[in-house]
Amino acid sequence: MPKIKILPDTLISQIAAGEVIERPASVVKELVENSLDAGATQCQIEILAGGLKRIAVRDDGCGMSREDVRLACARHATSKIDSLEDLSHIGTFGFRGEALAAIGSCSFLLLRSREKNSEEGIEVNIKGGSFTGETAVGMPEGTEIIVENLFYNTPARRKFMKSEAAEFSHILSFLTHIAAANPHVGFSIAHNAKEIFRVAPSDLRSRLAQLLGKDFFQRTREVFFDTPSLKITGYVSSAGFHAASKRQQLLFINRRDISDALVSRAVADAYGSRLPGRAYPIFFLEITMSGGDVDVNVHPRKMAVKFTEPGRVYRDVSQAVGAALDEMPPAAQSAAPIFRANAMQNPLELDAVNYQEKRARGLEFDFELIGYLADSYILVLDEQGLALIDQHAAHERILFERLMDQTLAREPQTQRLLVPAQVSLSSEERSIAQKALEILRHTGFEIEEWSGDTINILGCPACIESGAAEKITRDVLDELLKEAPNSKLFSEKLLKSLACKAAVKFGMRLDLLEQKKLLQELRQARNNSTCPHGRPTKVLVSFEELERRFGRAGI
Ligand code: ADP
Ligand code: MG
Repeated sequence: MPKIKILPDTLISQIAAGEVIERPASVVKELVENSLDAGATQCQIEILAGGLKRIAVRDDGCGMSREDVRLACARHATSKIDSLEDLSHIGTFGFRGEALAAIGSCSFLLLRSREKNSEEGIEVNIKGGSFTGETAVGMPEGTEIIVENLFYNTPARRKFMKSEAAEFSHILSFLTHIAAANPHVGFSIAHNAKEIFRVAPSDLRSRLAQLLGKDFFQRTREVFFDTPSLKITGYVSSAGFHAASKRQQLLFINRRDISDALVSRAVADAYGSRLPGRAYPIFFLEITMSGGDVDVNVHPRKMAVKFTEPGRVYRDVSQAVGAALDEMPPAAQSAAPIFRANAMQNPLELDAVNYQEKRARGLEFDFELIGYLADSYILVLDEQGLALIDQHAAHERILFERLMDQTLAREPQTQRLLVPAQVSLSSEERSIAQKALEILRHTGFEIEEWSGDTINILGCPACIESGAAEKITRDVLDELLKEAPNSKLFSEKLLKSLACKAAVKFGMRLDLLEQKKLLQELRQARNNSTCPHGRPTKVLVSFEELERRFGRAGI
């Protein structure tokens, strides 16, 4: 007897269901996407008990023939693709042909469908993956699918369900997204027999106003970016409007509802200092690109994609959003003096727009730490190959951003020194130092000016090592004293210099925890591919390069 056996189809579907059908909202997603694929103009959704008791989706789409209804719930049964190549120009949401089989394997499923121009409909019942009946029914053209007792035979999954209200809120969030992106389709949704919303087929603007509030357009800027390879349209919140979470970020890539960290970050980076810390922009963005540039088959519920050239997407998105934000608002004339006044109130002359460093970099970090070289380079394995991170450049970037954020927010984090440090200045240096001291204070230095030529440092920014406060101050002042203090970039230079002086040195050994912390912080930095002076933080030896150099390319 061999030990290995082929699993029965129903069991395979139940296993697949574990990935595809995470919760009631996943069922709603699969069913509604099927309705859209079927060309529906109306889609009606009824939910009982957060979807755990019942989910019904009715559409007026193309319907299915008797043969197709029988096939629809079989595994790998799809009308949407014939070959893998089709995936690169897929126009439908579905393509794997596993959703109905997966749903049918873990619920009581009733499917009724009447094909266009057909006399009658057909109804099939499936319980736990097996057909239990088939009858002819009278019904309007289209399809109706009712899913009851979800996860009745997978108790472990059922246990993971949250409250009815929480499950319903997942459903509602998905439906809001899909309804926003498909304005030509009417949707209605009811929970426990109470109508939650109903929207008739319309255009995008009216649909967004209905779903996201009438003032949505007053609080947003329009984005329009069109190149032969990529198109970005939609709306982003104007500076000053933002949210505490990413919940109000609606992103569609080739019509799919996607959440993508790279795009989110590219949008946020475009705001630069216009966005306060821990705030998230609000947006509705639709990205259209060639199917060859994006892989949609990387996530079991198709909620994530993989870009062939993430760097380019990052750059295009931040450029598109940056351009939208830079445009004068409609009330430009009356608003302009206010903006100018604001700019003048900035005592540090930090050029906020400059700080965004709009030259996009698009460095995505998803890595594994694999080693440490010469007490200077952290080696990480990332998707594209082996990356070497320069610990000094990386730390400099992290400190610079932190200092900049705190300074702009006027929330410097100061640590008191146990023993105040003293720095003496020549009388010639004093006049120039005046301005530098003012800026140093904004970054978190607590400085007392003594008579004559001595300054007393009582505290320093929390991110620099307290023991080094005196030396760092001295070095920074020395460097700045060579500068013309009135130059516009003076403040920024000071922060860069401070970050550079405070950063861990090249060749200074870091332990494993420190290495990890550095990588973690670098990953969170806005512009993590260069140090503030523009030198790279990371050098990548790509797999392609390795293949080439080992003569493996083309083998
Ligand atoms: P996929 O969507 O990946 O093809 P599904 O399991 O979701 O796989 O659906 C299987 C097939 O059933 C679809 O390819 C389609 O032909 C048919 N189908 C499912 N839902 C509908 C519907 N609402 N209207 C018409 N046909 C449908
Ligand atoms: Mg489908």
